[in-house]
Amino acid sequence: TNINAHLNYLFFHVLLEELLATGFDEESCMSRYHQSSLRKPSPYKPSTNLVSKLRSYEMLHKRCGPGTKAYERATKQLGKNNVINSSGDDCQYVVWAPMFGLGNRILSMVSVFTYALMTDRVMLVDQRNDITDLFCEPFPGTSWLLPSDFPLTNQIDSFNRTHSHCYGTMLKNHAVNSTTRPSYLYIDIFHDSRDHDKRFFCEENQAFIKNVPWLVVKSNLYYAPSLWLIPSFQTKLMKLFPERDTVFHHLSHYLLHPTNEVWGMVTRSYNAYLSRADEVLGLQIRVFSTPSGYFQHVMDQILSCTQREKLLPELASNGSQQVMNITKTPKLKAVLVTSLHPEYSDELKNMFMERPSSTGEIVEVYQPSGERVQQTDKKVHDQKALAEIYLLSLTDKLVTSTRSTFGYVAQGLGGLKPWILYEPRHQKAPDPPCVRAMSMEPCSLKALVSACQAETIKTTPFVKYCEDRITGIKLV
Ligand code: GDP
Repeated sequence: TNINAHLNYLFFHVLLEELLATGFDEESCMSRYHQSSLRKPSPYKPSTNLVSKLRSYEMLHKRCGPGTKAYERATKQLGKNNVINSSGDDCQYVVWAPMFGLGNRILSMVSVFTYALMTDRVMLVDQRNDITDLFCEPFPGTSWLLPSDFPLTNQIDSFNRTHSHCYGTMLKNHAVNSTTRPSYLYIDIFHDSRDHDKRFFCEENQAFIKNVPWLVVKSNLYYAPSLWLIPSFQTKLMKLFPERDTVFHHLSHYLLHPTNEVWGMVTRSYNAYLSRADEVLGLQIRVFSTPSGYFQHVMDQILSCTQREKLLPELASNGSQQVMNITKTPKLKAVLVTSLHPEYSDELKNMFMERPSSTGEIVEVYQPSGERVQQTDKKVHDQKALAEIYLLSLTDKLVTSTRSTFGYVAQGLGGLKPWILYEPRHQKAPDPPCVRAMSMEPCSLKALVSACQAETIKTTPFVKYCEDRITGIKLV
C-alpha cells in the first residue's frame, strides 16, 4: 500500500501540474506546490480541453495584461462612446470587484473567471482590498491585479444600480440600441438583482455585450449555474467540464493559491492537530440569527446531525465505564471546528473529555480561532478566515451550515459532499437536522434565471434546486 500511496501521490502531482501554470518561483508561493502533499489525491481529473483552454488563457493574459501595448490601447478607449472595434486582435477585459465576506468574494471571482474563459476576456482584480495578502499571482509572466492608475478606479465604488453605465438600468431606460457601443458596462449580479440585470444571462444580450471592451462586475453569488443556462455557453462548458459538478473544484484549484503567510497558518494547524488523526471531521458552524452567538438548539442540532449520520461516536452510557485497553492504540478522530463563536467547540471538547466514547475512539476537538464578529478587510482576520477555509477543505468528512458561502468554498476546494445543517426556525433544532449535499458545487443562493432561460433550464437536468434552499440552483 505504501507504494500505491506513493504512486497516487506522484500521479496527483503530475495532474495538478497539468492544471496549474508553470514557470513560477516555488519559494514565493509554497501553497502552489505543497498542497498536494496535504490533500488526498482528488478523484476528479481536469479534461484535456480544460487544460489547453487554461494554457491559451495564460497566453491571452500575457498579451493583454497590464503593462502591454494592448492594455494601453484598451484603457484609452474608456469613456468614449461608440468605440470602434478596430481589429479582431484587440483585447477585452472583465474586472472583478470584491463584495461582502471572503466566501462571497471567492465565489464571485471564480464565476467571473468562468465567464472570462467563455468570452475570451482577460480577468483583472481590484487590488485595493487585501487580495495580495491572501492570494499569489495565478498567471505566469503577467499580473491579474488591476493597475491602480486604471482610469475608472475612482468610480468603481460608486458603481451600483443607479449608475448610468449599469447594464440593467440601461436596458430599463431603453438606453441600449444596436448603434450604441459603450466602452464599458457595469454588471450587477446579486441575490436581489432585477429582471433587467438578469438579462445579462440571455443569449441575445451576450451578443451585444460581446462588443463592449470593458466590463466591471460586482456580485455576491456563485453564478456559474446561470452561465450554463446560456445555450452557446453550455456547449462550450460541456467540452471543458464533462463532469459538470467539477467547475468550482478545478477552477478554484487553478486560480487560488494562498500566500506564504496564510499557508503558514494552514500547515502549522495541520501539523499540530490534524496530521496524526486516523480521520478528520470538519465542522463549520455559522449562526446567521441576530443576535448571533451560542444557542442550545444549535448545539443540539450539531450533535443530532453528527450522531445520526455516524460522523461522531455517541458517549458511553453512564456507569458502563469502559475498561481501557492499554495495549491497543485507540483510533484518533480529530474534529476541526470553525466558527466565529468558540463555545460550540468548547462544549464538544468537554463532552469527549468527561466521558469515553461508546466506540472507544479518541475524539480530539480543535478550533483555530474564534473571532466573535466578522471583520472583513482586516488583514489578519481575513487571513485566518482563508486558512480555515483551506483547513476545512483538507478534512475527510465535512458538515457545513446552510447558505454559508464560507462552507461552499471549503467543500468545493476539498471535492467534498458535505452534510448541510438546515437553518433553525423558531429557536428549535430542525428535524431532520441536516441533509447530504447532492454535489460538491456551491449553491447559487438565488436562481438568476431570466425569462429567456425558462426553456434551457427545463432541458438541463444537471442544474437543480439546492438541497437546503429552494430559491437557489446548483450544478450536480
Ligand atoms: P458567509 O457569510 O457565511 O456566506 O461567508 P463569508 O465568508 O462571505 O462572510 C463571513 C465572514 O465572517 C468570513 O469571511 C470571515 O471574515 C467571518 N467568518 C465567518 N465564519 C468564520 C469562521 O468559521 N472562521 C473565521 N475565521 N471567520 C469566519
